[in-house]
Amino acid sequence: NSGKYLVTGGAGYVGSVVAAHLLEAGHSVTVLDDLSTGFREAVPEGAEFVEGRVQDAGRVLDASYDGVLHFAAHSQVGESVQDPAKYWRNNVGGSIELLGAMREAGVRRLVFSSTAATYGEPLRTPITEDAFEAPTNPYGASKLAVDHMISGECRAHGLAAVSLRYFNVAGAYGRYGERHDPESHLIPIVLQVAQGRREAVSVFGDDYPTPDGTCVRDYIHVADLAEAHLLAMTAMTGGDSGESGPGEVPPGTHLICNLGNGNGFSVREVIETVRKVTGHPVPETPAPRREGDPAALVASAERAINSLGWHPSRTDLAEIVDDAWDFTQRYTGQAGTS
Ligand code: UDP
Repeated sequence: NSGKYLVTGGAGYVGSVVAAHLLEAGHSVTVLDDLSTGFREAVPEGAEFVEGRVQDAGRVLDASYDGVLHFAAHSQVGESVQDPAKYWRNNVGGSIELLGAMREAGVRRLVFSSTAATYGEPLRTPITEDAFEAPTNPYGASKLAVDHMISGECRAHGLAAVSLRYFNVAGAYGRYGERHDPESHLIPIVLQVAQGRREAVSVFGDDYPTPDGTCVRDYIHVADLAEAHLLAMTAMTGGDSGESGPGEVPPGTHLICNLGNGNGFSVREVIETVRKVTGHPVPETPAPRREGDPAALVASAERAINSLGWHPSRTDLAEIVDDAWDFTQRYTGQAGTS
């Protein structure tokens, strides 16, 4: 039961891990990526690579595709506050073009890479999908806009879609891991300190209303995350009953699922785990709160578990950090690859 899928943003962190999982499951994969933040060498061997923007999807798609997994987007919260138009143009504008190209080609299944940033400051945790959606930055707002756009497309034109709202994606899958330039995420930064490439980690705020005063986040292993994408596609294709049949998510339906562990870890707990896993001291320095950071973001992933049959299995923070550490040591640190 192999299918043929387009992965936009397949040269990025999550996109490359999902593309690798699709290939391992026997599917054929085309990666469309403009390499603006991705890396050519991150595209898995065995995938066809097309260098181009999401807006070019029409050049690639035809009726032979079973579905699209859409990752290509700008994803830096701080940058989105500085340059909001960039986020509307690329994330929203690109997605409009992609939906149009899919409609024209008759490709009627979509998995969309959404985010917990669509909820903004949560009223209560764990966060369920019916929580109030009030993004606090243009990045989250652009992803929420695309979710609304997808719902409309499903209703009007019979698209089947699953939006997956990621909490804090972490860890690595062999040679596929996280590298941003500049790096802004906590785990890769702390690992750079352990590696000796940075002097200390700044702890952004230690007076939050959390057990140790530092922010709590729900870290989810990228390989667990990837498995949810394959299950989402199966829910639309019908899986074993044949790639063409409707499954749990029939045409005209848009399912939105959070992806997290349901467990929160504080910034201090992450740093302490890195010390244990790497055996390095990791100095930390107190720093002011980072603007827009909610105190705690923890997912309820009940819906993904019940509707998609998802079972996250790498929920131990030490295992997540260990995989990221392995990737950091082997594949980052050389000039030009930070
Ligand atoms: N953080 C920190 N120091 C850093 C980077 C991040 O204290 O150098 C904190 C950040 O304020 C947040 C948590 O670590 O509370 C996770 O941040 P990250 O940027 O990794 O993910 P986010 O939760 O913003 O998506």
